Amino acid sequence: MDVERIADLAKGLDCFFSRTEPLARHLSLGIGGAPAFYLRPRAWHQAEGIFLALWEGNAEFRVLGGGSNLMAADGPLSFGVVHLARLGGHMRWEGNSVEADADVPMPALAGESVRRGLGGLEGMGGIPGTVGGAVVMNAGAFGNDISGVLAGVALIEPGRGMTWRPASDFAFAYRGSDVARAGVLAGCRLTFTPEDPRKLRARFEEAKASRDTTQPWRSATAGSVFKNPPGKAAGRILDELGYKGKRRGAAGFSALHANFLVNHGGATFEDAFGLCEEARLAASGAGVTLEYEMEIWR
Ligand SMILES: Cc1cc2nc3c(=O)[nH]c(=O)nc-3n(C[C@H](O)[C@H](O)[C@H](O)COP(=O)(O)OP(=O)(O)OC[C@H]3O[C@@H](n4cnc5c(N)ncnc54)[C@H](O)[C@@H]3O)c2cc1C
Repeated sequence: MDVERIADLAKGLDCFFSRTEPLARHLSLGIGGAPAFYLRPRAWHQAEGIFLALWEGNAEFRVLGGGSNLMAADGPLSFGVVHLARLGGHMRWEGNSVEADADVPMPALAGESVRRGLGGLEGMGGIPGTVGGAVVMNAGAFGNDISGVLAGVALIEPGRGMTWRPASDFAFAYRGSDVARAGVLAGCRLTFTPEDPRKLRARFEEAKASRDTTQPWRSATAGSVFKNPPGKAAGRILDELGYKGKRRGAAGFSALHANFLVNHGGATFEDAFGLCEEARLAASGAGVTLEYEMEIWR
């Protein structure tokens, strides 16, 4: 499917389309060039039609949520991007459960669950991004991860459109899942456990405060660069190898937390990725395999 046809499709569906939109604008790390096409549906009813048409036409594309876990090459990129953010995301609460659209911001969902005295996401206070990205990455912190409360997912699947599937159809691991292999997440159903709201609020605030003091929140970052290897902290390994605060051009590992890459302003993909690869090789030389947690699109 060529880009002209995709532009026509977007026009027909009144969906934002661009050939020149730099991903840097939409990624928290601020590194990434323009994809072959950039589509942003304005509402969920447009999204299903877009995905079915792109699959039918064999268009190469990737799905972007909040962009808080990604770095992309400086471009031009060979694939297209469909951005699922700000589609009017709704949360529908009922008793101890909620159905949330995939574009709902995670801080809004976690905050509202705590406000309602529902336990399960209170450790995730302050994790950025969307519900879609959180489910796909199985985001988590301080003893919670989203798969712990996930009951079902609404998926847009190739050739089928939207279907609800139970969470048990999918495998969730530390910072990963196989959900995106089946389709695009349009929403999910979460079921919580009622708990003392004051205790939940205290845990939520504690998680946020801990991030404020140990992570470079005010900088352009994409969260943890590497997953923690079993029984070890990636940040400590990088620190011991001398990478805390180390820079290449305008990219550098944070002086506050070595496992956070920071864009100090105008960092290039070459510098950022080069520095990460250098650190990964150094760890490998010290007998530790570091696997990327942050996704790299190129
Ligand atoms: C300062 C900071 C702190 C962080 N702390 C944590 C932490 O403590 N714990 C943690 O787990 N993460 C953390 N992160 C990483 C990040 O916030 C999470 O991984 C988040 O859940 C990613 O969501 P997103 O919407 O931004 O996803 P994106 O970065 O947009 O995408 C991530 C992946 O999900 C896919 N995806 C996104 N939406 C959909 C969808 N609807 N359907 C199919 N695929 C989709 C993308 O294709 C991509 O593969 C942190 C990030 C930052 C910047």
